[in-house]
Amino acid sequence: MNMEIRQYTALEIGGLIREKKISSPEVTRAFLDAAKADFVKASDDETKINAYASLNEETAMAQAEAVQARIDKGEFLSPVAGVPIAIKDNICTTEGTTTASSKILTGFQAPYDAGVIEKLRAAGLVFLGKANMDEFAMGGSTETSYLGITRNPWDLSRVPGGSSGGSAAAVAAEFAPFALGSDTGGSIRQPAAFCNLTGMKPTYGSVSRYGLLAYGSSLDQIGPLAKDAKDAAVLLSIISGKDERDSTSVAEEPFRFCDVLYPEKGDDLSPVPPRRNPLAGKRIGIPSNYFEIPGLSSQEIARVFGGGSTAYLHICKARQKFEELGATVEEFELPLIQYAVPTYLIIACAEASSNLSRYDGVKYGYRSPDAKDIHDIYYKTRSEGFGTEVKRRIILGSFVLSSGYFDAYYKKALQVRGLIREAFDKALSAYDIILAPVCPTVAYEIGGQIKDPLAMYLGDIYTTSVNLTGHPAVAVPCGFGEGGMPEGMQLIGRAWEDGLLLDVAARYQEITDVHKQRAAESTANQATKGGAGR
Ligand code: GLN
Repeated sequence: MNMEIRQYTALEIGGLIREKKISSPEVTRAFLDAAKADFVKASDDETKINAYASLNEETAMAQAEAVQARIDKGEFLSPVAGVPIAIKDNICTTEGTTTASSKILTGFQAPYDAGVIEKLRAAGLVFLGKANMDEFAMGGSTETSYLGITRNPWDLSRVPGGSSGGSAAAVAAEFAPFALGSDTGGSIRQPAAFCNLTGMKPTYGSVSRYGLLAYGSSLDQIGPLAKDAKDAAVLLSIISGKDERDSTSVAEEPFRFCDVLYPEKGDDLSPVPPRRNPLAGKRIGIPSNYFEIPGLSSQEIARVFGGGSTAYLHICKARQKFEELGATVEEFELPLIQYAVPTYLIIACAEASSNLSRYDGVKYGYRSPDAKDIHDIYYKTRSEGFGTEVKRRIILGSFVLSSGYFDAYYKKALQVRGLIREAFDKALSAYDIILAPVCPTVAYEIGGQIKDPLAMYLGDIYTTSVNLTGHPAVAVPCGFGEGGMPEGMQLIGRAWEDGLLLDVAARYQEITDVHKQRAAESTANQATKGGAGR
């Protein structure tokens, strides 16, 4: 059992633990051993994925033993009690370090747990370690991490996406059954798409940001990265709900997702067969103009990214499935897409320049050893402690907030944000779900984009809008494109209708098997067939 336990979903592992077929310490040991074998400090080892920023072996084993003792006494903590999880390195845990993969937080030990961590702890989850990420969640490839790059388990020469690239790679490589990420402009959904996972940015305000190292506070939301929609649903049901310590937390009650998690039972968990079809009578809109964006034609994509996405093709196939299940699908025009990235960047960088001002060498982590006086401490610590991308964004953010440029940039961006929100609200009054691509490309080669920030930013064109508007969106695997690499589609819904999105995703996954393809099989196929093998 130990050998293959890593292949199961988190809910399956939770079931096996409850049935006493395997224990939480055995499961935790299996994942830790695999993760340890991959754990490298030097990311220039091209045979390693380098998914974790740090591993917490001792505390994980102790947690697993303690949870197992409670399970043995007959306590039911949650459907995934005893199951291990990887946590993005920007979410505070009292175990180990929390560094946002930045030099400036080297050695920082959080004095408290994030709100989501408290909830996971109460549900009996076991924390394996902290997943690598782009420094302070700024990036889309995990190449800006101070701890070295993470590689894509589907093809080690490519990026896993980002900024939650370590979380995605950990799940895709089966170094964790599922993981937490954070999404400010696509950082859960894009790595999910690049690694064939289901990843969700929940409705803004549904999950506590208390203890999440803030990047863009009005955009940030923690969410799940998982092997399928059901695992994503169980994780979101645990981490959602009110937290008085986050002033933007609105959800009174956590999501329950009974339709997804207990399809054969009702809200009171009593049987109500047969299962309701979530797609019957639903209206789905595909924004056709998303595929004709100036500067994003397939030739242009080929020029900028070296290979365009075939997501449209896969989305058309998914459309057929949704229609077969009783949904009405039509194409429509969703305006303002060309303003999504600039608006996002202005607002995210403005908020980041303020949020990151606290890292000054006095309160947290790294302090420059050569500093002579207080100004020197600030200046040298920040110069030495932040990487290039973080500095670029702090400078941009300070610029758009400066008195001479505030109206022209920041205020204008807030106004455009309002218009984008109106456009989405209008679209979502005509449709229950918007079906869109996640990214313009599949995962690209390591080093391919990092020197061209503008090209990198363009990669976020489909994901940033819903961070600006607050709507929920889930990335779901839908096919394979250039080089046999995974591609995702995005289901966007009305605020607080996170359950419908996960229900539809789960239903789609019941009748298709793209999400069941694993990176390990792909690597084996590549070795035996001399190609991607699909
Ligand atoms: N890739 C985006 C960026 O570089 C998104 C980051 C995020 O969601 N944290 O800003």
